[in-house]
Amino acid sequence: MAEVLIIEDDDRIRPLLVRGLRECGHTVTSAPTGMGGLQLAVDSGPDLVVLDLGLPDVDGTQVLSMLRAVSQVPVIIASARADDPSLVGALDAGADDYVVKPFTSTQLDARIRAVLRRVEAGRQRPSTITVGGLAVDLAGRRVHLDGTEIDLTPREFDLLAHLVERPGEVVTKRDLLVEVWRQPWGGSDKTVDVHLSWLRRKLGETAAAPRYLTTVRGVGVRLAAPVPDVPAPTEDG
Ligand code: CA
Repeated sequence: MAEVLIIEDDDRIRPLLVRGLRECGHTVTSAPTGMGGLQLAVDSGPDLVVLDLGLPDVDGTQVLSMLRAVSQVPVIIASARADDPSLVGALDAGADDYVVKPFTSTQLDARIRAVLRRVEAGRQRPSTITVGGLAVDLAGRRVHLDGTEIDLTPREFDLLAHLVERPGEVVTKRDLLVEVWRQPWGGSDKTVDVHLSWLRRKLGETAAAPRYLTTVRGVGVRLAAPVPDVPAPTEDG
């Protein structure tokens, strides 16, 4: 279980979350202000921070920026609204996930465990992922296809990296808008389609003749190693 710091000014919500997460087995500290929370985060080094965006002294997004300057601790944003414009700012500033109020301690606990699993997997993840003839160096942000380096834009690289980390999995366009474009709401499938088609061209394939990137109609896209060509049966007479 984890050491969790909750930064939340609401005097009804904060004790409920503290108690709820303790019941889930976590060690929990809390602060009712942004600066107090920041101090506690630096002093006690929690495993994860739950950060409310609407705080009385400093905006939550600013708290996150200040925290990120000194710490890579995973942060889950607690937002009052799914369409809160500062949510995008918070995700850009390095938040790892978000929950929308009202949420239960059990839901928050599930998010906490998911984020910590992801962080742990990231620590163990090899820097280069290979799928078929495609080698994606995540740390160096370089891609080779059949031994030849291919030149991608930053967005194309992020898109490919997201897919190559989930080989064989169908990833929805909505997931891509959230994870690659950082647009938890809104955004257009068309944006994803356009970038996918550019990426396909650079990988030397098309939607009609896919090799690595297969569109699953109405669902999303899957990256997998191409199936080797099966030789056409010959007629031996
Ligand atoms: Ca608040």
